[in-house]
Parts: sequence; C-alpha cells; structure tokens
Amino acid sequence: MRRLAIGLGLGVAVLLAAATAALVSVHTAIRALAPDLPQSTDVLRAEAGDLPVGLSWINTASQPMPRAGVLEPEVDPHPDAPYVMSHASFVLEWADGRLFLIDLGMDREAATAFGRPLEWVMGGAPIEPLGSVAEQLGAATRRVAGVGFTHLHTDHTNGIDALCRALAAPLPWMQTRLQAAETNFTTRPGRDQLGAAPCVAPRLLDPGTLQAVPGFPGLSVIEAAGHTPGSQIFVAQLRGEEGVVTWVFTGDIVNHIEGVRRDLPKPRLYSLLVVPESPARLAELRAFLAGLESKGARLLVSHDQRQLEASGISPW
Ligand SMILES: [Zn+2]
Repeated sequence: MRRLAIGLGLGVAVLLAAATAALVSVHTAIRALAPDLPQSTDVLRAEAGDLPVGLSWINTASQPMPRAGVLEPEVDPHPDAPYVMSHASFVLEWADGRLFLIDLGMDREAATAFGRPLEWVMGGAPIEPLGSVAEQLGAATRRVAGVGFTHLHTDHTNGIDALCRALAAPLPWMQTRLQAAETNFTTRPGRDQLGAAPCVAPRLLDPGTLQAVPGFPGLSVIEAAGHTPGSQIFVAQLRGEEGVVTWVFTGDIVNHIEGVRRDLPKPRLYSLLVVPESPARLAELRAFLAGLESKGARLLVSHDQRQLEASGISPW
C-alpha cells in the first residue's frame, strides 16, 4: 500500500513537473515575440482609391459575465460593472459588393460548448448562440471574397465549417508570416481546422510593419503577438459620409475597451494559465492602440459587446 502511494505520488510529481516545464516553454516563446509596430501616422494615413464603403458586425454568441473575467480586478476601478462577452465577426464591403470577413466566431453548437465552462468557472450567465456567420449572411455569403483572423483560437475560427458548407470556390485566407509560422497549443486546433477547410487557401502577406492585403485596398494587417504568437491587428480605411475613417480591429489584445482606455491588464491567472500571454507586449500594444484612438482611429474589441454596440457600426 505504502509503495503504491509513493509510486502514485511520484507519478503526479513527474506529471506536474512536465506540465510546468511545458508551460514555461510556451511563456518563454510568446515573450520573445515583439515585432516592430508601425508609426501611428502611417496607420492613420488615408489612402485614395477603391476603399471599402461598408462595415458591419455579426455577433455569433452573447454571454453576460463578471468583468473580473476580462480585466484584472485588483487594478480595475469598476470590477462590478456589467460586461457582456460577444463573439464578433466583422464584414467589410467594397463598392462592387465583394466582402472580406475578419474572424468568423462560432456556430451554435460550438458556442454552447464554449459558454458552459465560462458559466461554471467564471460565474457567467448561460451563453446565447446567435447563429454562424454563414447563417446570418444568408445569400450574401456568396459575395465573400476573402477572410482573415485576428488570431487562431477556435472561438474566432469555428465558423469556417458553416461558411464552407455555403461556399464552393476557395477563398484567400490572408495572414502574416508571423501567424503562419508561430503557433502554440492554444492556436493549433484553430489552425488545423482552417488547414482542413476546403473553402480557404492560405495566402501570405508581404513583410512589413503595416502589411497591405492584396485585392482589398484600404485593408492592412499589423503583426501583434502578445495574446497568441500569431495575433494580428487589422486596420481598415473606410470611406463613408464623414470622409475616410480608420477602423482598428484589436482582436483579443484586450477583451474590454477599458483595457485600452485605462491601461488595465487581463486577469493575471488568465494570462498565466488559461492563455499564456506576454504581459509586457500586451502593455505595449495597449499603449499603441490608445495612441491610435487619441489620434482619431476607432477601435473595435471582438469580445466587448457594449463597446461594439456603441461603436457606431451597425449589425449586419
Ligand atoms: Zn477570443
């Protein structure tokens, strides 16, 4: 009996040591990634030509939960304020009707599965699945001409399967070299899902701090890292009634707009254990985003439903 107990104890210790070593190596890898960021004047420089003329958002699921789940409560001045987690896809539209999708959210089944642990662990309300992007786009799905992802977590990639059921021709999946080359255990399931999807073919962007997306003038991508090794920030110059406006898609660099406006980090345990992040890089990116906003860019935070509702862009 005693030998069995010692054996079991040793086994658990070895497993714990292996898990800790693996976690340390993932942290070391993400902390090493800090690509140069573009000058804000370059991000904000209005382009000429065939810019997108429409921008809307599709929410694929909605879940009210404590704000302490997305902002470190020890430094958040309003940890009890209401917060609703959205799972957004963004739709850019050009004058000829073609669409580009940034992130794809989740279908109903995946959203239900995603929301359950957040309900149990973080005290969230039950998630409300709202339907995949393809379901909500309906006939307009045929106008989708390209896709890109702020990062490859499955809550951003899962909608690809429903999209592929509605689309035949392969679309370009636009990504930076960083996103193509750098993955970790949190992004491999999403990368594999996209890699197996018959309706998208990866297309690498030319290197640079602000990478133009070919075929979609006015759209560009910044290598960000910080949240995942391949995290990227999309920038769109949108032509509207008030002239050209720069929209910046933050992905999960922050999950609440107050993260940028008050420079608040995500909860420490989340960044340490749930998604191994680089806190230093995320702080740098928050300052970068705050600088862009102060100079007139408009930010869109994927998981902050109230911010998206207040952003001025309309739901699809
Ligand atoms: Zn996410």
